[in-house]
Amino acid sequence: MNPDLDKAAALIRSGRLVAFPTETVYGLGADALNPEAVARIFAAKGRPASSPLIVHVSSLQMARSLAAEWPQTAELLAARHWPGPLTLVVPKQPQIPDAATAGLPTVGLRMPAHPLALALIEAAGTPIAAPSANRFTQLSPTSAEHVRKSLGDRVDLILDGGSTPVGIESTVLALTPKPTLLRPGMISLEEIEALIGNVELLSALNPEAHPAPGLHARHYSPRTPLLLVRDGQLPATGRGAYLSSGANMPDNPRDYASALYSTLHRLDEAGYDWIAVEEPPDQASWAGIRDRLKRAATP
Ligand code: AMP
Ligand code: MG
Repeated sequence: MNPDLDKAAALIRSGRLVAFPTETVYGLGADALNPEAVARIFAAKGRPASSPLIVHVSSLQMARSLAAEWPQTAELLAARHWPGPLTLVVPKQPQIPDAATAGLPTVGLRMPAHPLALALIEAAGTPIAAPSANRFTQLSPTSAEHVRKSLGDRVDLILDGGSTPVGIESTVLALTPKPTLLRPGMISLEEIEALIGNVELLSALNPEAHPAPGLHARHYSPRTPLLLVRDGQLPATGRGAYLSSGANMPDNPRDYASALYSTLHRLDEAGYDWIAVEEPPDQASWAGIRDRLKRAATP
């Protein structure tokens, strides 16, 4: 196991910040039950207080202990998809500070499928609140090096676990009052509906008016303008890069997601005037990727 693990767990226990790998992206973690520690996350990221954090657990029992209500749908989904890239939003227990949930009465819970993340939560003996380990609105980090570049010494320790396999953030699903998809991800709507039946779509309910807290239109963005294009229609001016699945990007959503942020980080360093990304297929399996690209795109 990682030689820094004990030190990292001690830092978490003392209210400090540790960046750690999960299977999705690197998280910027702090003791979810300590309001001062949680406040440090917002300060380090420059994240608005209105954006709730996902609380990471290492066991089902820990998840249940943090939930004021743990519906049967949560039980079914956790049994099938945890550990994994699925966040379940349920009513919270008062021990979770309001700062962690942006004042909401609910909390997003997730058990990450990464041995180092699970070991850290276990060793710290407390649930760990963690958004992605980058400055607000920037691209999420998929390597320790990305974290270092974005946060530098704003983080007390970075646990290096290599690159993160899934590559985009978790699917976020609210379970009460009725199942509602808040953010698509690599666990698809179909897979969720197969287990618990009909799921509402946030966008269908409420086109633009009322995004879920923290679902800012601009997010996940490289500094270089990103354009979503069709049929290779590139800008007439400037020097740029063109990404297209099946050409220079993988042709299946799983491998595409895994490669996406590291590719964008690399292109962002190359000083291009634009990055043009061919719009991926309008299919359920690509929904998470399409969502991130839309929000990464320059309006
Ligand atoms: P991230 O921004 O990647 O840290 O993911 C956290 C996202 O999960 C937030 O921006 C929200 O969209 C969503 N989320 C977390 N907790 C809640 C909650 N209690 N209610 C609604 N959405 C939540
Ligand atoms: Mg983020």
